[in-house]
Amino acid sequence: MTTRPACFSKHRVGWTGGFDSTFHVLDLLDRGERVEAHYLGMDRTWRKEVHEKEARERIVCALPAEMRNRLDLVEPMETWDAQALDLYRKLHEEHEEEAFDRAEWGISGQIPALAAWLQTLGHGMQLVYVADDFREPHGDYHRFALRWLERSGAEFPSVDRRKASFLDGRFDDLLAETWSCNTSDDVAEPCGRCGSCRSRIVP
Ligand SMILES: [Zn+2]
Repeated sequence: MTTRPACFSKHRVGWTGGFDSTFHVLDLLDRGERVEAHYLGMDRTWRKEVHEKEARERIVCALPAEMRNRLDLVEPMETWDAQALDLYRKLHEEHEEEAFDRAEWGISGQIPALAAWLQTLGHGMQLVYVADDFREPHGDYHRFALRWLERSGAEFPSVDRRKASFLDGRFDDLLAETWSCNTSDDVAEPCGRCGSCRSRIVP
């Protein structure tokens, strides 16, 4: 691991409450590292974000005290604030050529907006993409997302790892509490049909 100066001694991690980012947070805490976890929300009224918040809370409450003490949870910030929107417009103007691609892939402004928001936080935010993300059918989408997010100075510490390697027996009970479902339907339980549900690895 890279040695960081004291002022960077915390790992800044985008933690959704999903399987992959939860593993990364738990792995760092288990190795004695300190974590500042940010939730990169887009829409607090979206049911998925409510489920993710509840998952994070369940996991934090179930953590051994010595791990919980090394974790700082940063309250969700409003993505669509004026500063982020200005940056989004700027990025959009600078990279006009990619607007077509975005439309072609059916992608909303979420990824560029997320990149803009990350710029407001400064560099060094760790976002958890894994090797599995770059397989089809969504490989193009994730490669596209990575290009935008790299511009924000984000780091991708798990990009060469396979999801299956996270089931190493240390955190299976905690990982079972994560929320993966990506459906926009108002569901109480994971839908089992969306791509995210189908690719979920259950401990
Ligand atoms: Zn689902």
